[in-house]
Amino acid sequence: MFRIRRVYDDVTPLNRGVISQVQEILRNQFPGLSPRDIAKLPKQLRNPLKYRFRTILFVAEDSKEKVRGFALLFHAPLLNFGYLDFISAAERETGRGIGSALYERVREEALFLKTIGLFFECLPDDPKLSRDPEIRKQNAARLRFYERYNARPIANTAYETPLEPGDDNPPYLVYDDLGQERPLGRDEAKAIVRAILERKYRGVCPPDYVEMVVESFQDDPVKLRKPRYIRKKAAIPVKITTPLDKRIRLVVNDRHAIHHVEERGYVESPVRIDSILKELETTDLFYRVSPRHFAEKRIKAVHSSQFVDYLKRVCASLEPDKSLYPYVFPIRNVARRPKELSIRAGYYCIDTFTPINRNAYLAAKRAVDCALTAAKQILEGYRLAYALVRPPGHHAERRDFGGFCYFNSAAAAAEYLSAHGKVAILDIDYHHGNGQQNIFYDRADVLTISIHGHPNFAYPYFSGFEDEKGNGAGKGYNVNIPLPEHVSQERYLEVLAGALRRVARFQPGFLIIALGLDTANEDPTGTWSLQSEDFQTMGKMIGLLGFSTLVVQEGGYDTRLLGINARRFFTGLWEGIYSSL
Ligand SMILES: [Zn+2]
Repeated sequence: MFRIRRVYDDVTPLNRGVISQVQEILRNQFPGLSPRDIAKLPKQLRNPLKYRFRTILFVAEDSKEKVRGFALLFHAPLLNFGYLDFISAAERETGRGIGSALYERVREEALFLKTIGLFFECLPDDPKLSRDPEIRKQNAARLRFYERYNARPIANTAYETPLEPGDDNPPYLVYDDLGQERPLGRDEAKAIVRAILERKYRGVCPPDYVEMVVESFQDDPVKLRKPRYIRKKAAIPVKITTPLDKRIRLVVNDRHAIHHVEERGYVESPVRIDSILKELETTDLFYRVSPRHFAEKRIKAVHSSQFVDYLKRVCASLEPDKSLYPYVFPIRNVARRPKELSIRAGYYCIDTFTPINRNAYLAAKRAVDCALTAAKQILEGYRLAYALVRPPGHHAERRDFGGFCYFNSAAAAAEYLSAHGKVAILDIDYHHGNGQQNIFYDRADVLTISIHGHPNFAYPYFSGFEDEKGNGAGKGYNVNIPLPEHVSQERYLEVLAGALRRVARFQPGFLIIALGLDTANEDPTGTWSLQSEDFQTMGKMIGLLGFSTLVVQEGGYDTRLLGINARRFFTGLWEGIYSSL
């Protein structure tokens, strides 16, 4: 078994390992390559637009993270073509081998990038150009492989002129129009061939050779060689569904419904998840991943262990269907914890409307597991992941729960990812993300930003003010942007753009979005009026930053619109991220 995946950068240990395996294969299989060119691969990936060509790396890897093949694609945005520089698996493999899986993924990407087609070199199958029959047989097998995709050598040009007279096996230039059946004009072909030769054979092809080859393109439109191996014109089409590795890894809290506060008016209800899921399922942008179990110490890494133990114990002590509301708040004397478990609730709580019930601990623990599973997907090389969870978590502080939240799932994921790089948490719930602020207030490696209704009128009332900027090393790494009761859509998007500039300056390895949908028009807990199209714009703006992004579900309570707004947000996020890379 193997999976095909695009490798975007060298931020995670997994990707660093994979890239060095690819470099090793390049060194061994292509001894003519300069060590400098091989060494700069990670840099090319990290800064795709710094070089004239955007470098795109796909790997086929097995479950032991061993690279079984790779393809290196260059995308030239201005001339609008793809150049397949290397594809290392045995293309001779028939059926669903690694070579075909890699080549098909490259074609999907070239089509997604709206290129006119793919160009690449193939050694010749003509006895005059390839004298050794054994090698010629291999060359023919490769050309046959590509002919299945209707990719054939460009005919009637001098591309395959040996650099030195008598050189064996000068390559053909092969063209795959990706089934678009659009004629390739002579002048555009000339510009493309020049770019290929100047890039690939810099310092090897003398300028007059390049000139000679470019000028040999006379047919308009350019002609391809007649099919030689595949009789029927049954070219393999390019898939039009979203490739698996580009789908958003979706982890849903499958045990959320065990936590159900049935009091009238308690808006944090199980139907929220179902209404979002129903809409997401109408797209092909998601790939469902089952939640994994993580040790409780992952929760205790962001919450006080006394509080975690308390919540576990008090939940287990409650009768089913009974809700315990905190009612005594010993804020004057924190050294004296009330003995009685039910009375003690207020010792760990910030409000009077978030009850504890028998399953609160289990559901909240499962939500954290989901956020961590989704974070792990990011570490495994996927660019986008979404933990669709309830109960929400962003109001849970290090030693307190409240605001429908028990454990801070986004914070647990941030802590987990922070072992591999800096993390930015952007909270776009209508309410202040006091939980992350409190948990990371002293840290400079986790940037916390929150855009929310001003605490003068919005929950949690006691935090979210502009002058809360972090403490000690963390000074400057907490940003609160409180907004008035009524905000126009334009103003909101401007503010978001400012917050995203702050994230970009921070250059995190990972971005976490605490996604509240209660900023929407008519949400029962908010006062703003964002429309569905605004959520798509917001998603796109966030995606355009191009960071590995984990989205964790927080609030949002208008169940008629939740799903649509979530779908629009993720559609925008997907479009943004994949047009930025
Ligand atoms: Zn909220």
